Amino acid sequence: MTALASGRPFLSDFHEVRVREGKRSGLTVAIAIHRTVEGHSLGGCRFEPYTSADDAIVDVKRLARAMTFKAAVAGLRLGGGKGVIAAMPDSPPDAYHRRLALHDFAELVESFAGQYITAQDAGTSEEDISYMAHFTDHVSGRPRVDGGSGDPSPYTAHGIEVAIRASLRGELDGRHVIVVGLGHVGTKLAWRLHDAGARLTVSDLDPGKRELAEQLGARWLEPHQAMTAEADVLAPCALGGVLDHPSIAKLAVSVVAGAANNQLATESAADALRERGIVWAPDFVANAGGLIAVADELHGFDAERVERSIERIGETLEEIYARAAAAGTNTLIAAQELAAERSGGLDDNDH
Ligand code: NAD
Repeated sequence: MTALASGRPFLSDFHEVRVREGKRSGLTVAIAIHRTVEGHSLGGCRFEPYTSADDAIVDVKRLARAMTFKAAVAGLRLGGGKGVIAAMPDSPPDAYHRRLALHDFAELVESFAGQYITAQDAGTSEEDISYMAHFTDHVSGRPRVDGGSGDPSPYTAHGIEVAIRASLRGELDGRHVIVVGLGHVGTKLAWRLHDAGARLTVSDLDPGKRELAEQLGARWLEPHQAMTAEADVLAPCALGGVLDHPSIAKLAVSVVAGAANNQLATESAADALRERGIVWAPDFVANAGGLIAVADELHGFDAERVERSIERIGETLEEIYARAAAAGTNTLIAAQELAAERSGGLDDNDH
């Protein structure tokens, strides 16, 4: 059955999941390939604490599947993959043990012989990618000085600005946007919105970010207040899972468009947003800017080509909103169906 006929694209089994205990670091390293396209998948390496190896495996699979949608809807000829290095809770590795873990992970990447290409993600940096490149060729997101695409967050922030404009169906000047999470993406997004004339409310768990709020001339709220404050747009740029039925009931915005991956706690949250008349830009569409940049590096990085491709996120969202309205469905389903169509409409791996 095709993905569209089933209405649930890409639910097939994973192409492959490999889990190892790192022989140098002793940490669990895992790679999940959800789907390959033309023999390849791409997705970052997350180096974060996990309470157990099982938790790390659940997470890497969930993230790999999301990468399939992200690449497909962005029109990239790549499947979804992801990697994790499971750090011990409450005991971050020192620089030496970090490198041992990166070496273990790079060895696992190499074992896939190019079916999985790794890149940066939460907890890894451009320098980590350069280090892993000593042990495997299958990396992207190397530093700009080495011909790579560098830090993906400026590209992700650009894509979120495009997504907000498309979701508002108009200019940013004078519109009120709440940015929750002033990290790599949120900070760059906030400055872009500031420069476009938007009115800003910002928030972060880290009180040290208040200084940035002052520089931006933005109102500061604590995270629990920011999620329910009145504005035109909410841009979640911290953690996933923030949109569940209770939190959606309290939203006081007409648009939600942000960088955080997996914003919906459950898929039914997309219906709750629709029922409240809130336009939700599916995260895997809006936050594809970084992936677009990292994927471009595989063909010789060209910043202008990347910027043009990121601008097309707006047209993609317009198409998703039009389809959802015409079919009387939510934007998650419309986006998943568009992803399936753009990648040939089948939910099978191409191997
Ligand atoms: P980051 O770690 O640099 O920043 C996250 C920020 O959120 C930090 O300042 C942190 O203090 C804050 N934060 C954490 N929990 C919070 C909470 N409950 N309330 C308010 N603030 C909180 O991460 P990033 O690279 O900016 O990415 C942000 C999100 O976007 C993540 O979900 C990430 O997976 C996703 N994303 C990032 C990229 C990228 O290019 N970096 C690409 C796609 C998706």
